[in-house]
Amino acid sequence: MSALTAPIGQSPAYLEIDVAAIVANWRILSARHGAPVAGVVKADGYGLGAQLVAEHLFAEGCRHFFVAHLSEALSLRAALPGAMLAVFNGMLAGQEGVFVQHGITPVLNSLADLDAWRVHGAGHEAILHIDTGMSRLGLDQDEWAALQGDPARRAGINLAYVMTHLVSAEQHDAPVNADQAARCAQIRAAFPGIKTSFANSSGIFWDDIFRSDLARPGAALYGVNPTPGRPNPMRDVVRLVAPVLQVRAIAAETPVGYNGVWIASRPSKIATVAVGYADGYLRSLSGRATARFDGHPIPLVGRVSMDLATFDVTDFPAIRPGTALELIGPGHGVDALAAEADTNGYEILTALGARYERRVRGL
Ligand SMILES: *Cc1c(COP(=O)(O)O)cnc(C)c1O
Repeated sequence: MSALTAPIGQSPAYLEIDVAAIVANWRILSARHGAPVAGVVKADGYGLGAQLVAEHLFAEGCRHFFVAHLSEALSLRAALPGAMLAVFNGMLAGQEGVFVQHGITPVLNSLADLDAWRVHGAGHEAILHIDTGMSRLGLDQDEWAALQGDPARRAGINLAYVMTHLVSAEQHDAPVNADQAARCAQIRAAFPGIKTSFANSSGIFWDDIFRSDLARPGAALYGVNPTPGRPNPMRDVVRLVAPVLQVRAIAAETPVGYNGVWIASRPSKIATVAVGYADGYLRSLSGRATARFDGHPIPLVGRVSMDLATFDVTDFPAIRPGTALELIGPGHGVDALAAEADTNGYEILTALGARYERRVRGL
């Protein structure tokens, strides 16, 4: 079932996705980068809907898209006519023909991939990935040296871009950034006339050193701050709102939730909402997160359950069954919730569940 076709009214909580803000964020990133900017829509568009995001970025003029898996590319191909649609994780053995047939661009992550594409993908565009510090995917130091020593190895390969991926671009004081900037300069020099692709979201906010012919932001499109510690240049994209199911009065010393880890220190009122860790409201938020009511922070108390969470609303008599609490929203966005869960905004977004009603704004 696609998120957009979920029957209205079936779910008591809703996730609001501001697609106009996603498009505005792409424009902000494009202006900042001063060169083409792709849309990274892997993991179902960071949990917000790859089809929805890709279609709107395409309508805005975005012509380069990245996903992680071939299956993700196949499901988007028809919606993005003529656009580059590339697969970070590259080809598994035997998939070459599917890439060719559907006009999907593989990221070649090894010399073996390069050789396979020469045989099966002749003439079709590919992206070559050089590892400059992630130790994850891409040509390692030895393969990169071998390729430099034998330029004929890439004869017959139609290289659209040479790319690398940044390790700590969101941490301005990380020494690895200078190392990677030097490696980026080496890549530019080694592939004259071939376009480069270096920056993720945070890389766009460095002055020049990671500028390339195609930036690849994901998180910043969806409102995650690409410059942690500094004001967020991006617009908020998501709001998560859940109505209160019940409000109960409890006596002082009454425990709340699994294992009774929170015990009321005074006569209290507890509001229960139908959002739990199965909806991406992570269990690690227990005792740490706050929701908002009328702009006021409302503390989450007790353990987050699979389908429910409980809030201390003692000081807010206006909160009743049916009152909407905002679990994510302006002023306490994805990054703030991530800090409370001891994770990052990426994990908050990609964990957002499939049970909410999804309301798309800004169409
Ligand atoms: C996910 C990913 C991106 C996007 O990174 P953000 O930090 O979300 O902007 C870019 N390049 C590669 C290789 C990725 O895996």
